Amino acid sequence: MKIPTRTCVACRKPQPKKELLRVVKTPEGDVKLDFSGRAHGRGAYVCNSDVCIQTAVKKKLFNREFKSSIDAETYNRLLEEYCGHKQD
Ligand SMILES: [Zn+2]
Repeated sequence: MKIPTRTCVACRKPQPKKELLRVVKTPEGDVKLDFSGRAHGRGAYVCNSDVCIQTAVKKKLFNREFKSSIDAETYNRLLEEYCGHKQD
C-alpha cells in the first residue's frame, strides 16, 4: 500500500502524512495547528520539527499556502501551540 505523503511548507520534502503537523485555515479564517488532522478547512503541512516550524513562521510560509496575509500574532500563536504540544 502506498503511504500518503504531503510536502512540508518549509523544507519542501514529501513526508508520510502522519509525521507532519497539519495547519488548517478554518472556514472562519482562523489559522491554527490541527492536531487531529481532521479539522474543516484548507490544510497545509509542516514537519514536526523545531527547524521547519520556525522556518515556516519566520518566513511566513503559510501566507502562500493559504493565499492570504496572516498576521504576526497568528504566527506566534502557532509557535506557542506547537511548543505547548511538545510538552504533553
Ligand atoms: Zn520540513
